[in-house]
Amino acid sequence: MSGAGAWEKFPKVDLHRHLEGSIRLETLREIARSYDLDYPIDDLPRFRTMVQMTPDQRSAEALLAKFAVLRHFFRSEEIITRITREAVLDAAADEVRYLELRFNPVALSAHNEFTPAQACRCVQNASALAAVDCGIDVRLIISINRSEPERAHELLDIACDGVKEGITGLDLSGDEVNAAAEPFIDLFDRARSAGLDISVHAGEWTGPENIRFAIEELNATRIGHGIGILDDPDLISLARERGTLFEFCITSNYLTAAIAVKKEHPVLELTRKHGLSTTLNTDDPSIFDVTLSDEFEFAHDHLGLTIEELRAMNLRAARHAFLDDGTRNKLITHLQQKYAENDNLPAKM
Ligand SMILES: [Zn+2]
Repeated sequence: MSGAGAWEKFPKVDLHRHLEGSIRLETLREIARSYDLDYPIDDLPRFRTMVQMTPDQRSAEALLAKFAVLRHFFRSEEIITRITREAVLDAAADEVRYLELRFNPVALSAHNEFTPAQACRCVQNASALAAVDCGIDVRLIISINRSEPERAHELLDIACDGVKEGITGLDLSGDEVNAAAEPFIDLFDRARSAGLDISVHAGEWTGPENIRFAIEELNATRIGHGIGILDDPDLISLARERGTLFEFCITSNYLTAAIAVKKEHPVLELTRKHGLSTTLNTDDPSIFDVTLSDEFEFAHDHLGLTIEELRAMNLRAARHAFLDDGTRNKLITHLQQKYAENDNLPAKM
């Protein structure tokens, strides 16, 4: 990760981070070495183009191809445990005080001998232990791939079984250009009834229609990305009235070509001018070689968000977190106290 020293002490919240996109490069190389996987791990620039996004390969397809490659690295329960622990430790080291980590148990069990339920159990155990060890809160979201509807019910059952053990949300992710969300309506109804909260990737690479569908038909209270809302004033009004939260990920949005120019990310316009509820997140810190500190630094230095707006973003994220009220209130109080201390701002401020 590149690391943005200036913002590393600023207390933050990340609601949109994929476990599969959070694996340290060095860990991937070690796994490849241990399991004799056929990847060019000694040719680092070449290896990086296989598992990380670079500016010369900006597209949704390129990102989805990384996830397909990464599935080959999940060879054992020990690996799932290790990558989960490292993802939590890396978030904590970046002063992420509350993390929601989303993952697809089908992806984690695609190339090994264990079941999605076993993979999920590894993530639950490892994330709970790591969270205690580094003193942050972590909750889990089960992510269903739009292109694998045949596995969706199995994943819903896994999510429902884990409701009292760290799993608090359900997500729909993947190729929204070619895979419709219609087959998932009943499934997301069941998820709501089971007490799961809903965050859906929508309007990342498509227009506003997918965002409207996620809000109205899938009952999403949070939208992953949602860049496409810019094209629909009525939908902006609807999202504002409902208090729908938008999980923006600046570097991801640029490197997947959801936006054309990084310095023209619409987060400020949608927050300040249109009054939408917005947050900043990493999406995939390893794939995009970015930390949440990097994102805050960019938003401040290049997009013009003020320190007060960035604090408000984290408090807003805490209010929309898929958390019980007791933990949520503690998190909000913690952030407010830290912001009042005023000693965690970037040195150059
Ligand atoms: Zn995502």
